[in-house]
Amino acid sequence: MDFNDLNTEFLNEFDSYDDHQCVRRFVLEDDIIAFIAVHNTNLGPALGGCRMKPYANEAEAINDVLRLSRGMTYKNALAALPLGGGKAVIIADPQTQKTPELMQAMGAAVESFEGDYVTAEDSGTTEEDMVEMEKFTGHVTGLPPQMLEGSEYGELGGNPSPLTALGCYHGIKAAVKARYKNEKKLSGLTVAVQGVGAVGLELAQLLKQDGATLVITDINEDGLAVAKEKLGDVKIVPPNDIFSVEADIFAPNAMGGALNDYTIQQLKVDIIAGAANNQLLSAHHDKALLDKNILYVPDYVINSGGVICVGYEYFRKSGYNPQDFDIARDSMVKHVENIYQTVSEIIALAQDKSQPTGETADRLAEDKFLNGAALADINDADSNEEGQASFGSNGGTRLVQ
Ligand code: NAD
Repeated sequence: MDFNDLNTEFLNEFDSYDDHQCVRRFVLEDDIIAFIAVHNTNLGPALGGCRMKPYANEAEAINDVLRLSRGMTYKNALAALPLGGGKAVIIADPQTQKTPELMQAMGAAVESFEGDYVTAEDSGTTEEDMVEMEKFTGHVTGLPPQMLEGSEYGELGGNPSPLTALGCYHGIKAAVKARYKNEKKLSGLTVAVQGVGAVGLELAQLLKQDGATLVITDINEDGLAVAKEKLGDVKIVPPNDIFSVEADIFAPNAMGGALNDYTIQQLKVDIIAGAANNQLLSAHHDKALLDKNILYVPDYVINSGGVICVGYEYFRKSGYNPQDFDIARDSMVKHVENIYQTVSEIIALAQDKSQPTGETADRLAEDKFLNGAALADINDADSNEEGQASFGSNGGTRLVQ
C-alpha cells in the first residue's frame, strides 16, 4: 500500500481546509484511492467513521474528508469525550467495489496513524467491514455485537441508533425547558418528525411515551407502515408538507440540508431539534433561524449519542481512559443523557449573547479543543431526574459523524 501526506500549499486550495494536522492519501487494492484526515488531536485520538462513496473525483473526496473530520473535532469536544476529530473516505462504490481485501487494506491505512486515528462505520461501510479492518488495526470501534458477546466489553457494543435517539430526546427536553420556561413535559406539545428510520422512529416512540402529539413523514412507505404500527395514533403527512405543519417542534431525522431558504420560510415551529447531520444547508441559516425566533439545537450536539456509544466501546477495548470514566453501559447512558446539560448551556449562552446557537456551540467547542477549557463533567448530570425514558433497539445503520 502506497501513501503520502498532502502538503499545506495543496490543501490551502480547499474550502474545508482548517489547519488539519494530517491528511494522508492512500492507494489501496485495485488502485482505489482513500484519504484519512486527522483534524485535531488536542483532546485525544481522532475518532470518526470511514465513508465509502463513488466520489466524482479526488478533489470532492478531499473536501468531504476535510469537512467531516473537522466536524468530528467539534462534535467529540461537546460530547465531553477525550477524543479528537478525524474521518476516512474511500472513493469506491460500496455495492460493486467493496471486497474483504479492500477493507483489510483500509485497516492497514488506519494503522499507519499508530493510534492517532480511530475508525468506525459510516455511510457505505458496515459492522462486517470493521471486522475486516480490525485484522490489520486495533484502532477500530463499532464492531458487531456478536463479536463482543462473552467479552468483558460486550455490554457496550451494538447499534447506537437508540442512544442517538435518547440523546435527542434529552436535547429536546432541554430546548423545551428553555423555550417555555417552567414547562418540562412534552404533553400538550406537537412534534413534526421528518424521517422515521433507525433514529427517527426510536425518537418518536420516546416523545410519544412522554405525551407529545406527533405528525410524521417519510419517503419510505414501508417505514411509515412500521411507524404507524408502533406509534398508533399518529398523523402522517407527505414529505414536502412536514415543514409547514402547525407544531411546536420540528425534528429533522432524515438527510442533511433540511433547513434552507425555502423550508425556513415555511416553518411555524418554536424549536428545531433532531438527529440529522448537517441540517443547515449553509452557515447563514443559523442566523436566519434566530431572526425568525426559532430555537435551533445544533445538530452535532444533540445527535452525539451515537459517537458516545462507539467512544465507550473503544475506551473499553483499548484501555485508553484518561478521564477515568466508568466504562459500563449505565454510565455510558448517563453520559448520553448529559446532552441535556450541554444543550441547556448552549441555549443559555446564545440567549445571553443574542447569538445564533450553532455559532455559540462552535465557540464552546473551540474553547475546549483549542483553549483547553474543561470537558463537561458527565457525573454532574441532573437530566436523570427529568428523563424517564426507556429505550429498546431496532435495526438500522450507525453513522459516526
Ligand atoms: P435511516 O436511513 O435509518 O433513516 C432515515 C430515514 O429518513 C429513512 O426512513 C428515509 O426513508 C427517510 N428519509 C430520507 N429522505 C427523506 C425525506 N426527504 N423526507 C422524509 N423522510 C426521508 O438513518 P438514521 O440512522 O435514522 O439516521 C438519520 C439521520 O441521523 C441521518 O442524517 C444520520 O446521519 C443522522 N445520525 C444518525 C446516527 C445514528 O446513530 N444512526 C447518529 C448521528 C447522526
